[in-house]
Amino acid sequence: SKGMHNQNHAHGPRKKPRVSAPAHLPGREPIQMQRQQLPIYAGKDAVIDVIRQNDVTVLIGETGSGKTTQVPQYLLEAGLAGSGMIAVTQPRRVAATSLASRVATEQQTSVGSVVGYSVRFDEASSSDTKIKYLTDGMIVRELLGDPLLSRYSVVIVDEAHERTLRTDLLIANLKTILQARNGSASAARDPKGKGKGKAKEPSGKPNPLKVVIMSATLEAEKFSKYFGGAKVVYVKGRQHPVTIYHTATSQPDYVDAALRTFFQVHIDQGPGDVLIFLPGQEDIESLEKSIDLYAKQLPKESLGVIILPLYASLQPAQQAKIFASTPPGMRKVILATNIAETSITIPGVKYVIDTGKCKEKRYVAKTTGTGFDTLLTRDITQSSAVQRAGRAGREGKGYCFRLYTEESFKKMPATAEPEIRRCTLTSSLLQLRCLGQNFEELDFMDQPDEGSVASALKTLFLLGALDHTKSLTPLGRQMAAFPLEPPLARALVASAEWGCTAELLTIVSVLSASSKLFVDTHDAREEAADARKKFRHASGDHMTVLNVVKAYEDVSQSEGKKARKDWCRRMFVNERCLAEAANIRAQLRDVCEKTGVDWKASAEGGQDAEARVLRAMVAGLVQNAACLQPDGSYKQLMGPSVVKIHPSSSLADKKVSAIIYDELVYTTQIYARGVSAVPRSFIAEVPVFKRRSV
Ligand code: ADP
Ligand code: MG
Repeated sequence: SKGMHNQNHAHGPRKKPRVSAPAHLPGREPIQMQRQQLPIYAGKDAVIDVIRQNDVTVLIGETGSGKTTQVPQYLLEAGLAGSGMIAVTQPRRVAATSLASRVATEQQTSVGSVVGYSVRFDEASSSDTKIKYLTDGMIVRELLGDPLLSRYSVVIVDEAHERTLRTDLLIANLKTILQARNGSASAARDPKGKGKGKAKEPSGKPNPLKVVIMSATLEAEKFSKYFGGAKVVYVKGRQHPVTIYHTATSQPDYVDAALRTFFQVHIDQGPGDVLIFLPGQEDIESLEKSIDLYAKQLPKESLGVIILPLYASLQPAQQAKIFASTPPGMRKVILATNIAETSITIPGVKYVIDTGKCKEKRYVAKTTGTGFDTLLTRDITQSSAVQRAGRAGREGKGYCFRLYTEESFKKMPATAEPEIRRCTLTSSLLQLRCLGQNFEELDFMDQPDEGSVASALKTLFLLGALDHTKSLTPLGRQMAAFPLEPPLARALVASAEWGCTAELLTIVSVLSASSKLFVDTHDAREEAADARKKFRHASGDHMTVLNVVKAYEDVSQSEGKKARKDWCRRMFVNERCLAEAANIRAQLRDVCEKTGVDWKASAEGGQDAEARVLRAMVAGLVQNAACLQPDGSYKQLMGPSVVKIHPSSSLADKKVSAIIYDELVYTTQIYARGVSAVPRSFIAEVPVFKRRSV
């Protein structure tokens, strides 16, 4: 045994905290009463008044106070939507969809009518929609077709403190839009006088815009200043004391430490749900398995354990379970990423276990030399740690177990660096160029560094989206129409040239799905490898994807749903990924239709099918090409790194002259994942190389 009773914590709870049953269980009262019990309800009129009287309002309130769900409804009821819509932006799609469904219920309708949502590859809205929850990425995309966001009367920028790249892009554009739509009032408040908007529209001046910046943390000043001294409103929360414990020593195996701490809590402490913060889906799934295994061995009289994962790509049906109240005799344990930090408030949580880790998107320019970000597991910030602990004290006294030492806490950075300072700007730059804008000219809260802008320019030039004068090319405009990272958009557009769009749509859709195509299994590695061999294509992983999808479609057509499920299990194929990919494919097909790409064009059956597909892939992944070196490793063509083929690849251990890959994975080495072998001549054929005659 792993020593479940091992006292990890320097000041572990010596005696059981006295647990009195909560006066009322949330989720039991009628929904309208629940709304009135939220802290923000007391400030309802004040909030409406301030927003009515100001173009820009900064609203700060503790997580769970009701900002995201209530403020849009207040504004709608107060008539502030006028003839337009209220947009509420979220950095994460699960938050957007789950909040929309909650607010729809509160409005006594179903999602998609008065209350809707829009996230990449999924939308529920109609002409009745007045409140729309969307990801910050989707609203930035809407700018392309509607640069003044004229459909919206109010734009609520939620979770603004996260400072995602898209949120920063939106905020910069909102400043310009305010001047164009509201005229001189906001122009006078533009301290830098940098805004590019026209003060007055000659005819048909659009309706004025209201902007509300919402956040759970107290960084109001910066936002207020940016908007020329915008009004700040604070909503009082209802936070109960939380006792915080640190570990005495650092815990490198944080998943194992979380497991032990959970059972310590579960065995020693009274009722109350447990929320465990982990960096990502893989750790969540692994902890889920171990908790399940150990929970089965507990004595009959102990509380039952309901394990609920919560991460970005979670299906709606599973999301709903998180909010269901815990049945008597049971304890919920929610395994979440930082999505549960501020975006989603789960009722009933009394204990928080914080691994102190999160995944962060970061552009590792020195080694990748490409236009892709990598997700790295890293230590959280103090601000996150405080938010995480706070989740334990929403309904009563709570306990937070930090799986790191007090010294580590003190060494954490206070807040995170904004994404614009650390992520790839390629896709954003392409969007800005479509709007006729540049990074240098827009007034950002934080300006990106010149190096990242230069590297984004380079990538877009290599892909043919910008010409040597940095002007948008017709190809660039076509690429921007696809909700894909520029390299994949480029591959898809290239497929038209090679007559293999049907194949590329399939590959790109699978690559864009949020879950992996193959199930990773530790228990049946050999079986899985055997099954995988059936699909293996000699050229590598991209053609292998086609083989899997084709085999799945054959089973789907000839057999029922259950047979299909069985097949997926036997083949260690992730059906969720295939279902999601089918949906994504349908949407990309629509974009093809609109932009005049023949999506039916297929290379299937032809002798050169493989060559055509790979040529299209090379056009997009040209920056992700590497050549074999004498020692068996691969050296990037356009970057300085030496990479190895990831063990999960169908080409692992193979030696081929040149490869292209989807992404790099950093462990002790740099691995290329999603690899195909390509003749060097294919790479030399890419226009940019032809020009340079490599
Ligand atoms: P804030 O934005 O201030 O953090 P929210 O408006 O998100 O607060 O949350 C207000 C309340 O609504 C919380 O008690 C939360 O648990 C509840 N809530 C939010 N989404 C759902 C949902 N999908 N189902 C049930 N309750 C929900
Ligand atoms: Mg919120």
